[in-house]
Amino acid sequence: MVRKFFVGGNWKCNGTAEEVKKIVTVLNEAEVPSEDVEFGIVILFEPHVTACNPSCDLGSLNLMHRLLFFFGSEVVVSPPFVFLPMVKGLLRPDFQVAAQNCWVRRGGAFTGEISAEMLLNVGIPWVILGHSERRSLLNESNEFVGDKVAYALSLGLKVIACIGETLQQRESGSTMAVVAAQTKAIAAKVSYWDNVVLAYEPVWAIGTGKVATPVQAQEVHLELRKWLHDNVGAEVAVSTRIIYGGSVTGANCKELAGQPDVDGFLVGGASLKPEFIDIIKSAT
Ligand code: PGA
Repeated sequence: MVRKFFVGGNWKCNGTAEEVKKIVTVLNEAEVPSEDVEFGIVILFEPHVTACNPSCDLGSLNLMHRLLFFFGSEVVVSPPFVFLPMVKGLLRPDFQVAAQNCWVRRGGAFTGEISAEMLLNVGIPWVILGHSERRSLLNESNEFVGDKVAYALSLGLKVIACIGETLQQRESGSTMAVVAAQTKAIAAKVSYWDNVVLAYEPVWAIGTGKVATPVQAQEVHLELRKWLHDNVGAEVAVSTRIIYGGSVTGANCKELAGQPDVDGFLVGGASLKPEFIDIIKSAT
């Protein structure tokens, strides 16, 4: 499987219907690299991947997976719930739509919640789960997020699962312990990883303008990939996209995208602006 570059736009709780339509117009008019080019490259390289000895080390497998995704990005935008059907209806067909949350199990007497079944019913293929704003403001625990991810996946939704440490946790040297515990709570409930994108979003970088350096991002992404290798499996480790989020902009995306284990971005503030197009193109 190929690690195709992934760019998500998390619009959070922003926008009026008119503003949302304007953002969609900008996206629809953007010229982005063609899918056809990537397809050609895949055919060229895939036999090497599939023929590779299973004992092949993480580094060589990783390089092969990285070689495959220089052209084209998977683009998924996530408007607030009330605008989802409208955005889905107006958005170009090569871009997809995600919800920003869904309920942990089948719907029912859960006032204010939106179920995974409802998302699928209106044709929404993706959902963002475990965002740090929900973890901190709404007390979503690691276990609760793990349950949500597992339930959404079990119905066929694709999941952008967010993890990340606070500034205090980074400064006390526990970054890896924190993100490993968050990932472990997901891995404990999930056995099928093809529909999971793992979003590493350091809390101190979200909405602060203080982006992780390419070295800091690469360091955590590589550790996460090693964690997946040791705790889930070699194939999941090389095929799972690990994307970075936290103050990504048109100006800093290129250097971050150049890191071998940064497979894309989850973008907040800049996804509401035309510079989101530069971020979509940053893998090329
Ligand atoms: P930001 O948000 O790009 O505005 O920092 C990222 C996110 O919360 O997903």
